[in-house]
Amino acid sequence: MLNIIIFGKPGSGKGTQASLIKDNYNLVHISTGDVFRKNTSQGTDLGKVAVQFMSKGELVPDEITISMLKEEIKSFMPCNGFIFDGFPRTIIQAESLDDLLKSMELNIDMVVALDVENNKLIERLLNRGKTSGRSDDKSEEKINKRLEEYDKKTKPLIDFYKNQKKFISINGVGDLNDVTTRLISIIDSKIS
Ligand code: AMP
Repeated sequence: MLNIIIFGKPGSGKGTQASLIKDNYNLVHISTGDVFRKNTSQGTDLGKVAVQFMSKGELVPDEITISMLKEEIKSFMPCNGFIFDGFPRTIIQAESLDDLLKSMELNIDMVVALDVENNKLIERLLNRGKTSGRSDDKSEEKINKRLEEYDKKTKPLIDFYKNQKKFISINGVGDLNDVTTRLISIIDSKIS
């Protein structure tokens, strides 16, 4: 099994790149943001709670996010592996993921970060907001809140995974296909 975390700030291209590479490795793509949005549009209890945080650009509380993620993982097992997009976003989430995988005798193989500077991210997200229908992409205030949440809660994961010798960062700027090529070549180099 191959388990990859695609890491990066909001707007760094995690979702796009995960969709593009998942079939190369026959992986299940789990985007926690997509699962929350699906629940919100279906009006489930989970969706009703999650949207209260998402609409403000805040992270959904760990307890809710972790139990949702566990259900997702179980629903796809057995499979060839996962590409996690937008999860983990806190140390507690990362520890829970490690524990869960360990209980199944699995582990995270690598964390690949897409490096993009803030100015570019804000520009990308505002652009995406014109067509994505996502309220959290539309206002600069909400985007800034998401970037603050990243700095406060998600950035510490860089050291967490560096300590496990699993963290790799690549340049996330440039032509979409060039970024995909960079990503595939770094993953191939680690699994060969
Ligand atoms: P994304 O689609 O990854 O940009 O996520 C959109 C929003 O969903 C985030 O701003 C959070 O409100 C929520 N969300 C997604 N993944 C997580 C997570 N791992 N932990 C907490 N909140 C999350």
